[in-house]
Amino acid sequence: MTATIPDAASDRLKRHESLQAGLDLIDQGFTLIDGDLRFVAWNEAFIRLLDFPREMVFVGAPFESFMRYNAARGEYGPGDAPAYVAERMAAARRFTPHEIERTRPNGQVLRVRGVPVPGIGFVTLYSDITAQKAAERQIREHAALLEARVAERTAALRHSEAQLRLITDSIPALVAYVDRTRCYRYVNRGYQEWFGLDPARPAAISAREFLGASTYEGIKGHVAQAFSGQPASFDYELTRIDGSRIRVHTSLIPDIGADGQVAGCFELTFDNTEHLRAQELVLRAQKMEALGQLTGGLAHDFNNLLTVIIGNLGILTEQRRDTADTAEFVAPALQAARRGAELIRRLLSFARQQPLAAVAVNVHQALIDVARLVRRSLPESLQIEVQAQSGLWIWIDPAELETALLNLLLNARDATAGNGRVSIRASAAELLPDAAGDRGLAPGRYVRIDVSDDGCGMDEATRSRLFDPFFTTKPPGSGTGLGMAMVYGFVNQSGGAIDVESAPDRGTTISIWLPATDAPDDEALDVPAELPPGAQPQGLALLVEDDAAVRQVVRHNLLALGYAVLEAGNGAEARQMLAHAPGITLLLTDVVMPGGVDGRDLAREARDLHHVPRVLLMSGHAPARAEAGDLPLLRKPFSAAELAAALREPRE
Ligand code: ADP
Ligand code: MG
Repeated sequence: MTATIPDAASDRLKRHESLQAGLDLIDQGFTLIDGDLRFVAWNEAFIRLLDFPREMVFVGAPFESFMRYNAARGEYGPGDAPAYVAERMAAARRFTPHEIERTRPNGQVLRVRGVPVPGIGFVTLYSDITAQKAAERQIREHAALLEARVAERTAALRHSEAQLRLITDSIPALVAYVDRTRCYRYVNRGYQEWFGLDPARPAAISAREFLGASTYEGIKGHVAQAFSGQPASFDYELTRIDGSRIRVHTSLIPDIGADGQVAGCFELTFDNTEHLRAQELVLRAQKMEALGQLTGGLAHDFNNLLTVIIGNLGILTEQRRDTADTAEFVAPALQAARRGAELIRRLLSFARQQPLAAVAVNVHQALIDVARLVRRSLPESLQIEVQAQSGLWIWIDPAELETALLNLLLNARDATAGNGRVSIRASAAELLPDAAGDRGLAPGRYVRIDVSDDGCGMDEATRSRLFDPFFTTKPPGSGTGLGMAMVYGFVNQSGGAIDVESAPDRGTTISIWLPATDAPDDEALDVPAELPPGAQPQGLALLVEDDAAVRQVVRHNLLALGYAVLEAGNGAEARQMLAHAPGITLLLTDVVMPGGVDGRDLAREARDLHHVPRVLLMSGHAPARAEAGDLPLLRKPFSAAELAAALREPRE
C-alpha cells in the first residue's frame, strides 16, 4: 500500500508536468490566481508575451507585483503609477469576467480576457493580436480607400453626365434615347422648351401625346424601321406648346447591343423651318427673275403699240371733239387702251423695269393715308387697324407703296369675304447677317410692314405660286393675278424682301422689309411750285425714236406744246443733227435704240457737248432710276399732259 502512495503522487506529478508542458506550448499567455490574488499557475507564453523577469513568477507571487512592475515600466502610459495600480487591483478584486485590449509601448497589442473559475480562482488569458490588428487596420484602410475611390469615380461619372447633359441641352435641337420598350430614357432640354415636358422624368413621356395622334401616325413607320435596325431620316411638321408650327428633320439611329439586338434608338430632331424658307426664297427669286425677263420683254413691245394707239386716239379725240362718233367709238377705245397701259405698267413693275420715283417717305403717315384711302371702298364689316412706330422713314416711290398696300388690303378683303380683321403694323427692324442673307438682303436697318388678316389663308400650292403673274384663285372677272406680282416687283426693286406666313384657316401675314432711311432735312420736303402751263413758242426740239408710229404721236404732242420738231430714227442720225443744227433747245430721246447708240449717251453728249438746255429720256423698258443716272426720264406710254409736266420740271 505504501508503494502506491508515491506511485499516485508521482502520477499526479507526471500529469502536472505534462499539463504544464502542454500549456507552455500554447502561444497564448495563461495565469491562474487564487482568491488572495496570488499566482497559482502560469505558462511560458505569459512570461514571454509580457516580458516579465523570470524571477518574478513563482507560486504565491502577488498579482499586485506585476501591476507595479508594469506601471513602473510605463506599460499603462505616463502619469500616476500608484493610481493605475489601485484601479486595476480594485477591478481584479471584483472577480468578474472581463476582456480588454491593450497596446504596449513597444507597439504590441494584447487582448486580455479574465474568467472567474468558481472555487479555484481567476484565469486570465493573454493573446498577442498585433498581427490581427494590423491586418484589420489594413483591411479597414483598404476599404476606406476603396470607398473614397468609388466616391471619386461616382462624382466623376456624375460630372461627366452633367457635362453631357449640359452639351445636349445647349444644342438647339431635340436629343433623346428611347429603349426597346419604346420608353424614353433620356430627353434633353429641347423637349421642355418645345413641348413643356420634364427632362427629369423621361419615362413619363409619350410621343403620341406630345406630337398629337395624327402627327404620330405620320412618323410611326419610320420609328418602326429604326427599331428594326435600319437608321431612319424624315421630315414633318409639328406644333410646339406655344402654338407655333415648325418644319423639322429627324434622324433615328438604332442602338445595337452586344447581343446584336436593337437595344434602343438615339433621336436627333432639329428645326428646319428657316433653312427650308431660305431655300424657297432662292427658288422663288430664280423663278421671278425668269418670269420678269419674259414679261418685261412682252410689256416693252406692248408699250410701244399702246403708245401709238393712245396717241392717235388722243389726237382723234382732240380734233373731232364735237362729233357724236367720237364719244361713242373713240372714247371707249381710248379708255380700253389706257386700261391696257395700266396693266402693262403693273406688269413692268413686277418685271422690275418700272422706273421708281423714290423719295423719303414717313411710314406712319403713308399707312394712315392708305387706310383712309381704302376705307371708303372697303365694306364696313372689315375692321382695319393701323399701328406704326413714329419716326420710321423709307426711301421709296410713294405711289408704288400705296398701290402695293392697296393690293394687300384688297386680298385681305377677299380672304375674309369682307368680314374680318386686317391689321397693318410697321416697326423698325435690324436685319443681322444671317437673317438678311436668307432674304438676299444686305444686313442693316429696315422697316418691317406686316399686313395680317384672319381670313381663309393659303395652302402650300397657292403659297408657292402667290407671286406668279396671272396666278389667281378668284373667279374670272374678279382677279387678275397681278396684285402680288406687283407687290413683289416693287419690293424687290426697292431693295426689300417679302415673307409670307399662311396656312389654311389660319389667316395670312405678309411681311415686307424695306430699307430704312434717315428723316429728310426740312428743306428737302419743300415741293417745288408748279409752273403755269402755256403754249408759247418753246424753241426747237429734236425727237429721237426708232419706231415711226411712236415718233408720229410724240411729234404731235410736241407741236401742241409749242415746239418746232426735228426727227431722227436712230442715234447716228441724231448725232449728225446735233452737230449741224444749232439752236436745239430740247432733246427727247428713246433709251434703247438699234444701231449701237444708247439714248443716255446721246443725251449726255447733247447736254455737255452741244449745250442743249433740256434733255429728256423716254422709255417703255426703262431701267431703274440709278441706271438712268442724272438724266430725267419719262415712262411710256405717256399722255400729252404728262409730257408737258415732265418738260415743266426744273432743270438741274
Ligand atoms: P388676285 O387677287 O387678282 O387673285 P393676287 O396676285 O393679288 O391676285 O393674289 C394671287 C392669289 O393669292 C389670290 O388669288 C389668292 O388665292 C392668294 N392670296 C393672296 N393674298 C391672300 C390672302 N391675304 N389670303 C389668302 N389668299 C391670298
Ligand atoms: Mg389681289
